[in-house]
Amino acid sequence: MKRALFPGSFDPLTLGHFDIISRGVPLFDEVVVAIGINADKNYMFTLEERKKFIEEAFKNEPKVKVVTYKGMTIDFCKEIKADFILRGLRNPADFEFEKAIAHTNRRLSKIETVFLLTAAKTSYISSSIVRDVIRNKGDYKVLVPDSVRIK
Ligand code: ADP
Repeated sequence: MKRALFPGSFDPLTLGHFDIISRGVPLFDEVVVAIGINADKNYMFTLEERKKFIEEAFKNEPKVKVVTYKGMTIDFCKEIKADFILRGLRNPADFEFEKAIAHTNRRLSKIETVFLLTAAKTSYISSSIVRDVIRNKGDYKVLVPDSVRIK
């Protein structure tokens, strides 16, 4: 089974993530969206909220699963038998950052990282910009899937 892990914080899920996950679906038998738990990070949304946003956005896509994990991404890949890591690339900064991680993961395991280039229309979107828009009471809804709603 071709299983890919799409790791991230998803604080919150954006249209950029949605695009990469959706385009990963036809490439793999299963895409596991994995929310990394980092005790040192201050999140805007709780783990439950972040998980719910993703589950709700992909409720009609049985090939997408949502899980949470702690520790090294490659260790978690081995645990759930995922041979691939899926990542999105937006710009040269993403490339440089991702390159080092992918080389390291490759040195430490046999897991291949598969990169998809962002869709042009979502290339500028990041969770941190979405959080800034939310904090400043802007119209965040145009940047995220419908499932991301603030009560
Ligand atoms: P983190 O920054 O903690 O790694 P993110 O949730 O921000 O996690 O990102 C997870 C993945 O989604 C990364 O591969 C990132 O490059 C990708 N990504 C984020 N925003 C976009 C976007 N607008 N277009 C394409 N990929 C994106």
